[in-house]
Formats: sequence, structure tokens, C-alpha cells
Amino acid sequence: MSSQEIERLVSMLAKLPGLGPRSARRAVLHLLKKRESLGSPLLRSLDDVLTAVRPCPICGNYDTSDPCEICSDPRRDSTLLCVVPDVSDIWALERTAAYRGRYHVLGGLLSPLDGVGPDELAFSSLKHRVEQGEIAEVILALPATVDGQTTAHYAADTLDGLSVRVTAPAHGLPVGGELEYLDDGTIAAALRARKTIE
Ligand SMILES: [Zn+2]
Repeated sequence: MSSQEIERLVSMLAKLPGLGPRSARRAVLHLLKKRESLGSPLLRSLDDVLTAVRPCPICGNYDTSDPCEICSDPRRDSTLLCVVPDVSDIWALERTAAYRGRYHVLGGLLSPLDGVGPDELAFSSLKHRVEQGEIAEVILALPATVDGQTTAHYAADTLDGLSVRVTAPAHGLPVGGELEYLDDGTIAAALRARKTIE
């Protein structure tokens, strides 16, 4: 049996996505062995990130600046808005460098079975942004799953009547495919070929 402190750390790390108790245990052991070169720097880095990084009040992206760098970058196309479920999708799209507009993070997908309704997601702030009048096109970059398409329809309905073009990647994004797992070429191609859905 290891000490209570170690068990507590293992059980916390095991809650991280992709880690279970076994890999958490290995990670803790590794951190103890590499105390100076990894353990302490990791601790400082985690503290820095949790202290300095906040969700952007405009788009929901995580950044140290407020508004975030994407929202405040004058070189980005402010007439294009890409709606994504999560910040990880922004990271995936930014990696491809195929998109130069701005973003809107919904904070998930509508999922009646899991009790996620419209009030839990950032639809009203989306509508508010479009109502400002500068955005010409809203791209719904949502997965081709049932929840993804339910969310896309709801977003389109939310924007109904506003003078904005609502589009989606022509073939949807591959089924069950969260953006972060797609290769850059697939993401870029899906984003280039888009159809008006309203
Ligand atoms: Zn932002």
C-alpha cells in the first residue's frame, strides 16, 4: 500500500480523460522519480494556467488575454463566425490554419437524453453577436451525429430572420468524429466545401 497522499493524487489524476487508475499510478511514480526535471515544473505550469487562463467573454476560447487573441486580432475576418462545440475544436481548426475568421464556443451539444438543453449552451450570446450586424456568415462546424445535427438545427433556428448566411461543411464532419481526431487536410477540405443550410 502506498501513502494516503499518493492514493489521493492517483485518484484525482485517474479522473482525467484518457487516464485510468493504472496510468495515473504510473504517472505519479514518474513524477516522483523526475521530481526536479518534471514534477516541480509541472506544478508551476499547472498553477500558471489555472491562475491566468480564463474563458473569453466574447467567444468562450481559453486565453490569458481578455478578450482572447483571436477576438482581438484585427487581421482576422470579423465577418466570418465559426460555431464549435468546444475549445478543443478551436485548437484543431487553428492547427490547420485553414480558417481566418472568429469563433463561438457553444460549450457542448444539445442532448435531451443527458439533460443538456438550450439554456446550458451559448445560443443567446451567439444570437447577440450576430445581431451586432458585422457577421455575414455563420459556419456551423458541428459533428454529423444526432446530437450534433439537433444542435445545428437549433442554432439555425436561433439565427432565423437575421441577415446572415448560415452554412455547414458540405458533407458534415465525419460521423462521431470530434474535430481534434481528424487530420488537417480533412478538416481544411470539409471547411472549404460548405453549403448554405438556410
Ligand atoms: Zn474570444
